Amino acid sequence: MQIYFIEFSYLLASILFILGLKGLSHPETAKRGMHLAEFGMLMAIVGTLMHHEIVTYTWILIGLAIGSVAGLAMGVWVPMTAMPQRTALSHAFGAFAAALVGISEFFKHGGHLEPVMMGALGFEVMLGALTTTGSLLAFAKLQGLVRGTPMTYKGQNIFNMTLLAVTVGIFIYLIVVPGSMPLFFTMVGLAFIFGLLLVMPIGSADMPVVMSLLNSYAGLASAATGFVLSNKVLIIAGTLDGFSGFILSILMCRAMNRSITNVLFGAFGSAATVGAAGEQQGSMREVGLEDIATQLAYANKVIFVPGYGLATAQAQHAVRELADVLEKRGVTVKYGIHPVAGRMPGHMNVLLAEANVPYSALYELEQINPEFPTTDVAVVIGANDVVNPDARDNPGSPIAGMPILEVDRSKSVVVLKRGQGKGFSGLENPLFFKPVTGMLYGDAKDTLTRLVQAVQHA
Ligand code: NAP
Repeated sequence: MQIYFIEFSYLLASILFILGLKGLSHPETAKRGMHLAEFGMLMAIVGTLMHHEIVTYTWILIGLAIGSVAGLAMGVWVPMTAMPQRTALSHAFGAFAAALVGISEFFKHGGHLEPVMMGALGFEVMLGALTTTGSLLAFAKLQGLVRGTPMTYKGQNIFNMTLLAVTVGIFIYLIVVPGSMPLFFTMVGLAFIFGLLLVMPIGSADMPVVMSLLNSYAGLASAATGFVLSNKVLIIAGTLDGFSGFILSILMCRAMNRSITNVLFGAFGSAATVGAAGEQQGSMREVGLEDIATQLAYANKVIFVPGYGLATAQAQHAVRELADVLEKRGVTVKYGIHPVAGRMPGHMNVLLAEANVPYSALYELEQINPEFPTTDVAVVIGANDVVNPDARDNPGSPIAGMPILEVDRSKSVVVLKRGQGKGFSGLENPLFFKPVTGMLYGDAKDTLTRLVQAVQHA
């Protein structure tokens, strides 16, 4: 009876994970998808707790208590802007757990495992170990604990590849000739080191892609754990996690017109790549808040283009209020959303959804770009790289070919930012020097709040 319950809960959990992922593919169904996946995880945990191999629940309850407190604290206190590093930390924990399970299984069998089992276990431990240290370094870079720019040295890629080859070599040897503890731990140690070396040359701007890739590794490590433990739900969940992470990495790379190899080995954001930017002509034109308010109040169509600055300023509610007062005056308001605006996929969608901006007002890059020439005012709110015309016009730019929101084709552009700060790529943005562009300096939330009042009195 018990075994049927376990099998049923695992089957239900797997179906819920798949439905959850499907829900996450659209902002309107994302919340429901998340709840389905959460319920799926609960079913998987309940099923696992029913296993008759469990002799005592003491350590399980201690783990549950520690995990719940840590998870609750992270959910309540970590701000939205720190979500990427929070995710990196959870990947590190998940991957470390997979590595530890693999190590304990190796011990349990005294290292004498069937080749297929050793293959799955080695894969699990190797991916788990490198994802642990890689994710911890990603966390440290994003949190500003270590320098975010790429750390490079001569012959780095060759050194890293050699280290990886040695690690994989030991792994293959252990499959053929099992049982050597020293070799097994050398492999584990090298995998931990390789994780650090893999992330070292990657700049913070590329970190979301790397994290999604590490997420994919952590998922595959869990799937391998499932094979080792003969646990079906772990195999299914791990595989879903592994492949969705990989697809997400590819989508992000596509949105930046970069290849995975360029992200992993290109040291993007280092002095060498940033130096390739073009020289700027002219100067930036500062505009007054009252003038912009009048321009907005009497416009036919306004497009808001949010970026990372909207997230740091937490200006999502203020932009919604401005949209409301403009719409009351008969202005058509739309939002142009770039797939890599902000610091994580869907960042802008999540923030705007929090402020109850209707999904029907959000437009993807391909939909909104043809609309800019008929737009009276494009309001860029804390966005920089995603509206950088160099990506389209300057083949020598490090971001050449990255699709952008073409705000510079609008009749007028207003950029809301605090000062002369660069975008995450560290590049100068020629948009700010164009005659069509006016700069409105200040914190985005503060500026938008003042604009709301000024538009009401215009
Ligand atoms: P961005 O290029 O990083 O620019 C953000 C701008 O916001 C800065 O120029 C900054 O200028 C301004 N800002 C910061 N705080 C502000 C505040 N409180 N109020 C007003 N303005 C503020 O942002 P983005 O255009 O969204 O581009 C995202 C970047 O991240 C791209 O390079 C993208 O490739 C990269 N990336 C994103 C993802 C993803 O999944 N979303 C993944 C990989 C890479 P001031 O300092 O002058 O205010």
